[in-house]
Amino acid sequence: MKKLNLEIKACEMLKAAKLYRTAGRVAILKVLMDAGKPLSQDQIARRSGKNHFDKVTIYRTLESLLDVGLVHKAFIDKRAWHFELSHNCTETQCHPHFTCTSCGETTCLTGISLPMAKSPHKGFIIHRQQVRLEGLCPACA
Ligand SMILES: [Zn+2]
Ligand SMILES: [Zn+2]
Ligand SMILES: [Zn+2]
Repeated sequence: MKKLNLEIKACEMLKAAKLYRTAGRVAILKVLMDAGKPLSQDQIARRSGKNHFDKVTIYRTLESLLDVGLVHKAFIDKRAWHFELSHNCTETQCHPHFTCTSCGETTCLTGISLPMAKSPHKGFIIHRQQVRLEGLCPACA
């Protein structure tokens, strides 16, 4: 039941973004919806299950989802970009991400909205604000 709902939602998202429905796009959207947190390309590959999309396919598919704004880059961790669905974020601001220093789990803090940083140093233009918080998650605290 839950799997079917994700499938329907993924198809609706593609339709709204006017993107053709491909097995890869549906699979990646489902993986990101199911995870509910940013994932690296490798993590997406591992979670895409029996479909076994190769790296090139995942890379190209992610690019197409990034282009239409369905997915965005949340942050870099261990030299890898982590991607998430854009529906909880605006063009200029992503919600804060909390990473546990003990278990390494990252959580989207979608309930917190921080004021946008102002008056940057001369010559700097802010396009987007992303905040990362570190500490202990409830399981480790
Ligand atoms: Zn975001
Ligand atoms: Zn933890
Ligand atoms: Zn997030």
